[in-house]
Amino acid sequence: MNARPFQNPSFGANVVVMSSPARPIALRGPVLTYTGDPFRDGLAHTMVHERDAIVVVQDGHIAQFGPAAEVTPLLPPGIEVRDYGRDALITAGFVDTHVHFPQTPMIGSHGKQLLDWLERYTFPTELKFADRAFTREVAHTFLRENLRNGITTSCVYCTVHSHSADILFEEAEALGLRLAAGKVLMDCRAPEGLTDTAQTGYDDSQALIAKWHGRGRLLYAITPRFAGTSSPAQLSAAGALWREHPDCLMQTHIAENKAEVAWIKELFPERRDYLDVYDHHGLCGKRAVFGHGIWLEDGELQRLHDTGAAIAHCPTSNFFLGSGAFDLSRALDPKRPVRVGLGTDIGGGTSFSILATLSEAYKASQLNGQALSAEHAYYLATRGSAAAMHLEDKIGSIAPGMEADLVVLDMRSTPLIDFRMNQAQSFAEQLFVQMILGDDRAVQATYVAGCLAYARS
Ligand SMILES: [Zn+2]
Repeated sequence: MNARPFQNPSFGANVVVMSSPARPIALRGPVLTYTGDPFRDGLAHTMVHERDAIVVVQDGHIAQFGPAAEVTPLLPPGIEVRDYGRDALITAGFVDTHVHFPQTPMIGSHGKQLLDWLERYTFPTELKFADRAFTREVAHTFLRENLRNGITTSCVYCTVHSHSADILFEEAEALGLRLAAGKVLMDCRAPEGLTDTAQTGYDDSQALIAKWHGRGRLLYAITPRFAGTSSPAQLSAAGALWREHPDCLMQTHIAENKAEVAWIKELFPERRDYLDVYDHHGLCGKRAVFGHGIWLEDGELQRLHDTGAAIAHCPTSNFFLGSGAFDLSRALDPKRPVRVGLGTDIGGGTSFSILATLSEAYKASQLNGQALSAEHAYYLATRGSAAAMHLEDKIGSIAPGMEADLVVLDMRSTPLIDFRMNQAQSFAEQLFVQMILGDDRAVQATYVAGCLAYARS
């Protein structure tokens, strides 16, 4: 197996890209994965926790998975076994269903709520992406942070510039990532230099789809930023594009903030509700991922359920921007469950850590009178988010035939967590400690398509 250092020295000595191993390798350690949706079918039927398991990866896929006692006798002679020990936890790589890579440079900017924040921070930052060298530097940093945090798939907003999508796709391709992304469509109510037109946005997206969608593991996401910055003509053009390429994803924002909801009602008085603005233009259906959705009404949730569209739950961002506490159990109501994934929403979100994001998801559920369990939370971060993107047949769980994107957590990553773990009585408690106290330090290794892509120093 040949290791080559990643091109950019700033990536850090501990980030390496290994060429795809032709020979199988085996990872050994405790494993947590899911065979279905525990919110719908219960944990007993869907959660798999093996205390000592072996995962065999070959040619980018999982070849075998099972208890070590059963799999060991079947291993080919001489296979390399990487034993991570009993204080590790191997899960499917984390999936981030809503994130803006160009906002990496503005994470942690102070002040006000969504619409003001877009004006003060987002638009000025995104203007800098006219510069290709800057764009590449940010794309590098963004993907490095993803790998450091065990994120192996994301659904990414670029800027209005076509090259922002080209550069992100180039960088993701070099790492072998399964990643969805799209150039932002924005033709009104945005600064000069950050707008396209209905026609140029359509043409540029069409060219990007032809170049990138389905190339290796990459997917295109048609990306109108939100109804506030797209004219009806642009929303129609985006809908037409999606009809021509229905296997692309479609991502946008919805019902994030009360002032935003009121503004969209003013802009589109003829539409029944916020979702109907998108639906009317052919922008609601399978593989649609709507960011936030905190203030959706019952009829909108029903429509999302009926069409197979998803909501990206972005709790660190929702709290940071004072948007609200997303009601997860309402969205998942068994009478009309909506697909829900987890999103970091960088840079409104405050952390690349999925563990930190789960901690905030727990607090959001508490404010809605529910206490999200750790076992359900890890489903959201893996298979649940894959299902939100309609990719659960490829990523998000550990089973033969799945793509070998894996994260190895260190369950004793800090002195406090180490001490706390000594008191934990059950696996559920151990898991909960990780999501409340853990962060990037808990990520010991990240595998992309069976290759070690990040290893903690
Ligand atoms: Zn967003």
